[in-house]
Formats: sequence, C-alpha cells, structure tokens
Amino acid sequence: MIDAHIHADTRPYEDFEKMAVAGIKKAVSCAHDPMKMSTSAVVLDHIHRIMENDTQRAGKNGLKLYAAVGLHPRSISSDYIRVIEKLPELLANKNVVALGEIGLETASEMEIKVFKQQLKIAQDMGIKVVVHTPRTNKKDITNITASIIEDNIETSLILLDHVDNSIIDRVRNFEGVLGITVQPQKMTPEEAVILMDEYGYDRFVLDSDMSSSPSDPLSVPKTVHKLRLAGVNEKDIKRVSYNNASEFFDI
Ligand SMILES: [Zn+2]
Repeated sequence: MIDAHIHADTRPYEDFEKMAVAGIKKAVSCAHDPMKMSTSAVVLDHIHRIMENDTQRAGKNGLKLYAAVGLHPRSISSDYIRVIEKLPELLANKNVVALGEIGLETASEMEIKVFKQQLKIAQDMGIKVVVHTPRTNKKDITNITASIIEDNIETSLILLDHVDNSIIDRVRNFEGVLGITVQPQKMTPEEAVILMDEYGYDRFVLDSDMSSSPSDPLSVPKTVHKLRLAGVNEKDIKRVSYNNASEFFDI
C-alpha cells in the first residue's frame, strides 16, 4: 500500500512501524504548517526535516518516505519569496516527488498570488503538485482553487486532495488523481468505500493526512479492509491503494 499524503514530522517513531507492519510500503510526507511559520527560515527548516530526518526515521522502520515540498497557504510569511526562490533547487532533490501541499485556505489575495507562483514553477519543471482543499467553506474555496488550476497548469500534474461528495463533481474532469483522505472528523473508511463505489477506482488515491489533528496511521489499510469486506475485487483495491499513487508520483 501507499499512503499518498502524511505529515511525518508530527508523528512518533512508532507510527512508522505500525504502518509498515500493516503493509504500507511507501508514503509521501507533505510540507504544511506544524507551528507558526513566522519566517522563511522556519519554513525551510521544516522542509529540510521532511526531506532528511523523517525519511530516516521512517526508513529505519521499513517505510519508504518521499517528500512533497512547498508553501502551504497557512505558511506564508512576509519573506515567503525566499522559499519560492529556493523551490526549484529543493524540487530537484531525488527524494522530492511533488510540490505540495499548496492551495487555498481562505482564498485571500496573498494566498492566490502564492498559489499561482508555485503552480508556474511546477508547470515549468513538469513536476507533480499536491493541492489541498480546506475543511471550512470547502465548496466555494474549491471552486476558486479549481479555476486557478485550470488557468495555470495542466491538470494531469495535479493530485487534488481531501475530495468528498461536496466537491467531486467540480474536479472529476481533472486528468490527474483525486485524493480520498480517510481521517477522523473528515471521512470514515465506510464513507470512502461508498465514494469509490460510486465514482470508480481509476482516479483515486488513498491517504491518512496524519498530522497533529485527530488521525489514524492505519487509515489506508483499514479502508482496504473495508473494500475487501464490501466484495471489491483485488485489482481495483490495488489500484486505489497502490498503483494510482505509484504511477502519479513515479515511486
Ligand atoms: Zn495535509
């Protein structure tokens, strides 16, 4: 299995062993806002931690960790441009498989500007992008997010994440992949099974988005378990739990 979106920096060493024992082989750890990201130096230190320290912590437990780096909408400091300038170099690192997670939280003017700047870098480099959709005001903010994506980058480069029934119709024409985040307070494994039953198995990837919010490191294996109990065939289960993410991230 692959967990396509986690925040390894917020999790204890033991979680990686749990994940590996449950059959998760690989995971992508995304940059986010684990603390007040008051300057670009804090953001860059955070990014280095994901790329180096956490990769080692997970690796020692048999979990291969990849990184997605970028400026989360809640991490925009006044000197954010220093992070933007550094991104091409960071994205060229062999362990970095995507730019992310980026996107809009409140769709402020500043968030939109930084989002567009990063999409341009990804389009120029032909690199994949993990795009966040928020919990609050999800439908309206996703409408704006989707329009910006369509105007600025090929949708085949996009993993649009935290998809649920409220936004799927707006983004299902995207050519990339759609992330189903199975997380307490967001979506249960059972709800994920219903969503996949309705929309198919070709385009989805599964993730836990495990962070310091209520999270379950075993979200992906538990969802796979529920898919089996629902009688879904092994080929489709393999697609959503491994192949789609493996092909998208080239991992
Ligand atoms: Zn996240």
